[in-house]
Order: sequence, then C-alpha cells, then structure tokens
Amino acid sequence: MNSNKTTPHILPNNPKDLQSIDLKSGTTYLGQGALDLSSFPRLSQEIASDSNLKPSQVHWELSTWFEERLGGIPLQYMHLRLAVDLPLSCQACFQPYMESIDSDRDYILFDTEEEAENWDLDEENQDAEDALVAPETFNLLDTIEDELLLSLPLSARHTPGECKAEDLEKVSKKLKTGSEEIIIQKPNPFAVLQKLKKQ
Ligand SMILES: [Zn+2]
Repeated sequence: MNSNKTTPHILPNNPKDLQSIDLKSGTTYLGQGALDLSSFPRLSQEIASDSNLKPSQVHWELSTWFEERLGGIPLQYMHLRLAVDLPLSCQACFQPYMESIDSDRDYILFDTEEEAENWDLDEENQDAEDALVAPETFNLLDTIEDELLLSLPLSARHTPGECKAEDLEKVSKKLKTGSEEIIIQKPNPFAVLQKLKKQ
C-alpha cells in the first residue's frame, strides 16, 4: 500500500500556471514538460543570438514531498531537474558553441528568509539540501530561470579540441619554432601516476 495520504497534484506544462503554485495547500506536486526559451527573458539575453545554433527547449521535472522531523512540523522538499542546450559565445575564440546544461537539485522550502538562513547556517546541514524561500504563491518559472542562470559556465568555452583558438596557438607555435611538427603538450605519465597515488 502507498503510505502517501494525498495524491500529487499534476502541474501543467504551461508558463502562466507555473508562475503561481500554491505551496501552502499541503498537497504534493509532480510535473514535467518542455518550454520555449522565450518564457525565460533573462536567460535569453545570455545566449549568442547571432549564431545559426538554436537553443533547445528547457526541459523541467519537478516533485515535492513532505518529511517528518522530530519535534517539529514536517519539512517540504522540492526536487528540480533541468536540461537545456544553449548557444553561448566562446570566450577564447569568440565563436558560438552549444553548451549543454543539466541541473539536478533538491531544496527544502521555507516560509521566511530567516528560517532559510538558519537552515543554511546550521553546520549539520552543510551537505544537505539548499534552503529556498517559497512565498505563498510560488513562481516556478522564475526559480527555473534563476537555477539555469546559476548553472551557466563562469567562462564560456568550447570543449577542448573543438576551439579555433587552440588551432591558432598551434600555428603560432609552429611559426615560432619553424618546425613542421605541431607541438602538443602531453602529460607526463609518471606525473599522472604520482598524482593518483596521492589521492
Ligand atoms: Zn572557442
């Protein structure tokens, strides 16, 4: 038998509905879908819009649940999984490339900033879920956008081996040395072994 007292409320894949979710209802939520990037104006500003590369939809998956704690009211948890492919400008060669973002996080939802801060400051919770302040009408769309903005690379770059800037470096090395051979730095295998031993 299922021990859950309530059946989860299924969230629709609709930007407007996702902007106001009643988290105080005591019900649990479940939902998934894919939304166009146009629903996320702040994130849209971060992409390389002049490129031929087109962003994917933002895929989202959410579930909430309650967990009892000793001597207190149950805590409300939220799991949020996000995935999107975005064209970004490589900071090395200034060409657009596709960055795959995949974010998977658990939160504990609190009513007030103070409660959330107390949770985060408690050393016992260092490795646990992140605290999130969830007002009466919770805006999931904003939370998705915040999370994706935080997941953007600090310095956007091609994956190694695919960047034009690396080719230029090789060419300039070749010109400097006058050699026909392209110099590629290989890690010393013994150094790698030493490093492994230390771990
Ligand atoms: Zn590059």
